[in-house]
Amino acid sequence: MRFLPVFLDLQAGPIFLVGAGELAQAKLRLLRAAGARVRWHAIDGHYDLNSADAATATIERSETDPLTTDLAQVIAVICAGAGATGHAMAARARAAGIPVNVMDELDHSTFIFPAIVDRGDVVVAVGTGGASPVVARRVRERIEAMLPARIGDLATFIGRWRTLIRDRISEMPLRRRFWESIVDGPIGAAVLAGRVHEAEHALKSIIDPSRYAARQASGFVTLVGAGPGDPDLLTIKALRALQDADVIFYDDLVSAEVLDRARRDAALVSVGRRIGKPGIGQDAVNRLLIEAAQKGQRAVRLKGGDPFIFGRGGEEVAALREAGVPYAVIPGITAGLGAAAESEVPLTFRREALRITFLTAHKVRDAEAVDWSALTDTKMTVVVYMGMTAAPAIRAGMLAAGRSPQTPVGVFARATRPDAKAVVGSLDNLPALAAQVDKGPAILVIGDVVARSAPWRNENLAQLLSNFGIAAE
Ligand code: SAH
Repeated sequence: MRFLPVFLDLQAGPIFLVGAGELAQAKLRLLRAAGARVRWHAIDGHYDLNSADAATATIERSETDPLTTDLAQVIAVICAGAGATGHAMAARARAAGIPVNVMDELDHSTFIFPAIVDRGDVVVAVGTGGASPVVARRVRERIEAMLPARIGDLATFIGRWRTLIRDRISEMPLRRRFWESIVDGPIGAAVLAGRVHEAEHALKSIIDPSRYAARQASGFVTLVGAGPGDPDLLTIKALRALQDADVIFYDDLVSAEVLDRARRDAALVSVGRRIGKPGIGQDAVNRLLIEAAQKGQRAVRLKGGDPFIFGRGGEEVAALREAGVPYAVIPGITAGLGAAAESEVPLTFRREALRITFLTAHKVRDAEAVDWSALTDTKMTVVVYMGMTAAPAIRAGMLAAGRSPQTPVGVFARATRPDAKAVVGSLDNLPALAAQVDKGPAILVIGDVVARSAPWRNENLAQLLSNFGIAAE
């Protein structure tokens, strides 16, 4: 992030606008709508204000030379369509320590304009560091579509009550919870539906806001599936839980990009365990969750993929239930499904693959414990978690179960992450394929449907091209 979004107080002083033509007019319209006081130096001498603009006392036309005019009190300088004068003005503003924007010229600017969503007191600024205004506008459109029309009214409503409630609930976390229960509850809904009077009345009738907030403040644990890595694969519920959390206990498998979606001031606690590294142990994790809830915190237990697939979520739920702690479970996209979608492996296929087995083969010892005889069915796709080191044992087990050495297999490492790698081949070569992906985490998929995957098609294309002496890209 090169540009930090901040909001400029337009009551602090005037904006100094230098420019000509339609570009300056456009900036003027924006500043006027925002309620800014503007000193406008139209360097071509044309003040093409329409009558409404001309009537506005907040715009002061200036005939003086902008390069020598006094800049005292000026809070920002904007140059639009000002050519060389704009560059000279930018140098002047910089020397005086005043923020300056030269339209479409990043090199001369110390600040840039975002795309703006304007809903009264709720303003959203979208930036792309100056890289692409078109992308910024698309993002703005999406946000416009997502925000309730009266979201600004809700902010104004709360603004009116803030001081009063601050005086009556001194404790900050409790106060936050109070406002959250207003925003998320029927009172907020009434404001969003345009029934402000009704909401006003309801809020007034809360006699003891502190008690009201305390009722909402009981601790709670949410087991949240973080998905395989790509943060866009979080569910909306997962995102909400991450945004509401006081504390987040996360696994090693959870990607940094997913953690980045958490509430900024949530405490992040790693309780990771990795193959070969013990981590803090399941009992200790259970204890942390219970203690957090008992302190009244909203705790999130964030787990890679889905909490209930090889994630020990079941044990955590049992411990919470035993301790009488309220909890909820939010599913996530398990790594096998994430990998399958990314590499286009249809895990089932009409007549060809009618069943799926998810199994884990954590250590060689565990792999030996798998009942391979249950996997003889060639119409069954087998998805293996934690199977990298056990790849030779998996190969041996599947062959012993009577699967053909030619059965297509895929190794999908770091699926849905930027450094994802997929290799495909035959069951016979499984250990060598596993060695090719460098490091985990990786999912193995065994079954005919792997021959329908994108990496398989590419492999065959590469083979075909190399027959003609052409290297595939
Ligand atoms: N609860 C998780 C699984 C935890 S077990 C889930 O539902 O996905 C850990 C194993 O998950 C790893 O050894 C690996 O086999 C698999 N895994 C997790 N993330 C992965 C990813 N991004 N790509 C491939 N495999 C992954």
